[in-house]
Amino acid sequence: MSEWETVIGLEVHCELATKTKLFCCCPNDFGAEPNTYVCPVCLGLPGSLPVLNERAVEFALRVGEALHCVIPEESIFHRKNYFYPDMPKNFQISQYDEPVCGNGWLAITNPDGTARRVGVERAHLEEDTGKTSHVGGGGGRIHGADHSLVDYNRAGVPLLEIVSKPDLRSPEEARAYVAELRGVLEAIGVSDVKMEEGSLRIDANISLRPAGSEKLGTRAEVKNMNSLRSLVRALEYEAGRQAEVLETGEAVVQETRHWDEEAGRTYSLRSKEEAYDYRYFPEPDLVPLLPSAEWRDKVRAAMPELPAARKARLVEAWGLSEVDAGVLVGTPGLADYAEGAAAAGAPGRDVTNWVTGDLLAHLKESGSSPGDLALAPAGLAELVKLVADGTLSRPLAKEVLGAALAGAGGGSPAAIVAERGLAQVSDEDSLVAAVAAVLDAHPGEVERYRSGEDKDRKKLRGFFMGKVMAEMKGRGNPQVLNRLLDEALGAS
Ligand SMILES: [Zn+2]
Repeated sequence: MSEWETVIGLEVHCELATKTKLFCCCPNDFGAEPNTYVCPVCLGLPGSLPVLNERAVEFALRVGEALHCVIPEESIFHRKNYFYPDMPKNFQISQYDEPVCGNGWLAITNPDGTARRVGVERAHLEEDTGKTSHVGGGGGRIHGADHSLVDYNRAGVPLLEIVSKPDLRSPEEARAYVAELRGVLEAIGVSDVKMEEGSLRIDANISLRPAGSEKLGTRAEVKNMNSLRSLVRALEYEAGRQAEVLETGEAVVQETRHWDEEAGRTYSLRSKEEAYDYRYFPEPDLVPLLPSAEWRDKVRAAMPELPAARKARLVEAWGLSEVDAGVLVGTPGLADYAEGAAAAGAPGRDVTNWVTGDLLAHLKESGSSPGDLALAPAGLAELVKLVADGTLSRPLAKEVLGAALAGAGGGSPAAIVAERGLAQVSDEDSLVAAVAAVLDAHPGEVERYRSGEDKDRKKLRGFFMGKVMAEMKGRGNPQVLNRLLDEALGAS
């Protein structure tokens, strides 16, 4: 693979979180009964006319600001003509050569810590299609299915297609770009960025060229990657496949390929369409889009903090490592959660240790998002305080966290500690008694400890500590116990 350079460009389709669809008043919502959010406009009935959703344009302008795009004074909509059962009009209203956002860039941090800018070619508004399901055999594919069902609830949902330049050089870099972009889209509030619900869909153009060459190779477009992990896997597979093709002296075919997650491979779907196949022409039912300077100024003035700035702030204010701050900011909802806990009075650094450790592990395992946790940010702050004031040792705190995440104690760690009698015992009288009881019960070991070699003493010291902890049912304050044990063993 060393003699080939991988060249990747990504098309990210982002469903905009508007209340209604792009050209009608139907709700824009996921998971409703099929074909309940439809009307003459999004069903493409003759005589119906589209009306552009102002909020969707505002969201596009926000994205343009965040990605440092050129916002042209005028952009227009085109009809992209093709027949497909989930497109009742037989054309899609999209943007072609005059999109709402032009030329911009996004700064990413590579896995090796180096930063670079990835060019953004354009971002354009378009309507989503409906959704077809193939039923009765064929494993969800059209081949082998008995019949197909179409749900038009998604038809007409606003999409912003963000097209990168072919600036990405590895699957890992592609992942870093999508993760950064996802964070930006989340931060500016234009999308719920849920890849698993299709709110963020990625198509990748990938080609190889001899290292050092300037000329781009023939590309394949890969579709159907539903997570960052499958994006990396699909691109790694496809780079390997193309290298094999090129090394046998064959040519890569320009085509669209489908990523099969289970089989771990891509397969040919159809030859890649060219723009002229779509017979684009200006949409006659819509006037040109002319966002006023005032509107654009207003959007710019209202821009929230972007992930890169937030990361820098957390590194500075909480004393975090770049890696930890990157995990907080790069995981949807996690930085909000951590900042919520800090606002409830816990030190940011302690909060981050829990959030990037046990809490993140729980999120990955349960597939839930931070906003759905049974333990609210204020509850985590409570847990951090219980550790700080010595009520809980770290192992006990882990136990309490697990219980709280499982829904115990109504989300209050303090309530769980009270219910289960988990509070750490720091009271010296009980600890002194426990130490004395253990030493009394093992006079031989005590004798050996006092006269023994270094190696032996370490082992025995661990043995005593274990016994004392067992005596305290795991709840003794380890720092106090260590001190008391040293005092008792030092005494002759
Ligand atoms: Zn509608």
